[in-house]
Amino acid sequence: MCGIVAYVGHQEAAPIIIKGLKRLEYRGYDSAGISLLNGGLHVYKKKGKVAELEALLDGESLSSKIGIGHTRWATHGEPNDTNAHPHRSASGNLTIIHNGIIENYAALKQELLKKGYTFTSETDTEVLINFIDDIRQHQQCSLGEAVRQALNAVVGAYAIVVMAEDNPGLLVAARKGSPLVVGVGNGEYFFASDATPIIEYTNEVIYLNDFEIAVVNDGRLVIKDTSDIEKTPYIQTINMELEAIEKGGFEHFMLKEIYEQPRSIGDCMRGRLNAAEGRLVLGGIREYSNKLTHAERILIVACGTSWHAGLVSEYFIEEFCRIPVEVEYASEFRYRNPVINEGDVVFAISQSGETADTLAAIESAKAKGAIIFGLCNVVGSSISRVSHEGAYTHAGPEIGVASTKAFTAQLTVMFMIALRIAHRKGTIAESKYHQMLVELENIPGKVEEALAVDNQIKEIAARYKEARNFLYLGRGYNFPVALEGALKLKEISYIHAEGYPAAEMKHGPIALIDEEMPVVFIATQDSSYDKIVSNIQEVKARKGKVIAIVTQGDTVIPAMVDHVIEVPATEEALMPLVTVIPLQLLSYHIAVMRNCNVDQPRNLAKSVTVE
Ligand code: GLU
Repeated sequence: MCGIVAYVGHQEAAPIIIKGLKRLEYRGYDSAGISLLNGGLHVYKKKGKVAELEALLDGESLSSKIGIGHTRWATHGEPNDTNAHPHRSASGNLTIIHNGIIENYAALKQELLKKGYTFTSETDTEVLINFIDDIRQHQQCSLGEAVRQALNAVVGAYAIVVMAEDNPGLLVAARKGSPLVVGVGNGEYFFASDATPIIEYTNEVIYLNDFEIAVVNDGRLVIKDTSDIEKTPYIQTINMELEAIEKGGFEHFMLKEIYEQPRSIGDCMRGRLNAAEGRLVLGGIREYSNKLTHAERILIVACGTSWHAGLVSEYFIEEFCRIPVEVEYASEFRYRNPVINEGDVVFAISQSGETADTLAAIESAKAKGAIIFGLCNVVGSSISRVSHEGAYTHAGPEIGVASTKAFTAQLTVMFMIALRIAHRKGTIAESKYHQMLVELENIPGKVEEALAVDNQIKEIAARYKEARNFLYLGRGYNFPVALEGALKLKEISYIHAEGYPAAEMKHGPIALIDEEMPVVFIATQDSSYDKIVSNIQEVKARKGKVIAIVTQGDTVIPAMVDHVIEVPATEEALMPLVTVIPLQLLSYHIAVMRNCNVDQPRNLAKSVTVE
């Protein structure tokens, strides 16, 4: 995920692009760049926020009526000046900005290397621009045609804009899977990832569809698809508040991020999973892959929501790989002189990749000789650099302080890692392995279905928003989800909440239950279903108010509880990806109804870089 902006027309391009990039910074902010035509093609780019790019541009002569700009969220190659966009083709004639991932970039790169191309960055994007340039040169075709042919060979997701030195009135843009809006002005055109950079110049926009290519040449716009069929553009008039658009029309970043999960889970699998071919590739785990497969014990260190993802991962790894797992709070692990033996490997999970306690835990495990696998959302973050190997979650920037989409992405990656180890070790039957891959591919659709309960959850939120305490109970895979549901509620609505394994209730928390106490049961139809039904009875017998998350079509539990929320059925191990959705929504709506600052809850910071 990143922000792209481009302009061609009669105004100065640079100020429009820089201002637009600032509006898109929520989409990515690890580096920024701009390309302009001013007596030749120029590229300026800089690690850091758009403000750093502005400082770089200070004093430069930037006059140009055409330009492209980018604010990056790295997926391939760490955030630095070289990997920043725009990228230039080796001939120097073309520059590109790109949002997304070119999955088959490694194969395309090999072909280009054979032809003598050299690359300066580690990005998939630089491969794409050289691939386009190569087609253009060899076929002597237009840039639009070269882009079309290239995209027919590309696997992955993209929104791109390309500019050419030898054609100063030309911009070629295309999309598949990543958003791209075209602003239609008076003899001028704007391209951007969302409408915010555009709306102060024009409210006439075209939302490009997947597989469409827009070519602006000398003031004329033509849209074709990748089969070369011309499309009639559908121009819409938009009328929206700036802030609303930045949040994609959602009231808060947290809600936007909750709703992004079908896409972010899909992004996390992109290029890694192909169930039809039984393929599961994790490019970041190579050299130490054997060490991982033959690990005698796996330690997972993390904090907060990532620690809950670690707990679910423990279940995955023990069930499928038969390797013992211990999940540790990073802050405890580092201070208690843990035993680490040869043959142990450590997973460190952190959304930001900057969590101080987790970093310190890594250092102490490394000092004892452990191999570290990092699991972060932010490419190039400290944890990704100090780990031996790892995998990114590719969920896109998470702005809301309460983690939502990073959690489901962490579960997705850890599930893939567990399946990969199990398959290599032979601890999973071939048929089960394939069944799991297929079901994982179905998860984005099931998360989408789970989001449909939003209105029902609002009603429940209204009913319990004044509660002083909440209890969350689950068993097996749904126990860590209970912890996560309770944490979400505490974080953003400041209501005291506890998560427990449902069977533990009778060893203490049952004493809290009375008619005032809302109890959330995560009670899907899995191997402990009958047991959890008994636990629900125990709460109802004490007049507790029960909100039950059940599998669609369940007729038993709805008859005994106060509120029911249905989620689609899936494999037991994948259930947390679905059952956490209503809990995220419940905490969100209760917080909004209590007038809490959802995106920036009191006393909390997004990335905890202190002990
Ligand atoms: N894959 C590209 C990169 O890592 C684009 C990432 C993005 O969408 O910002 O540079």
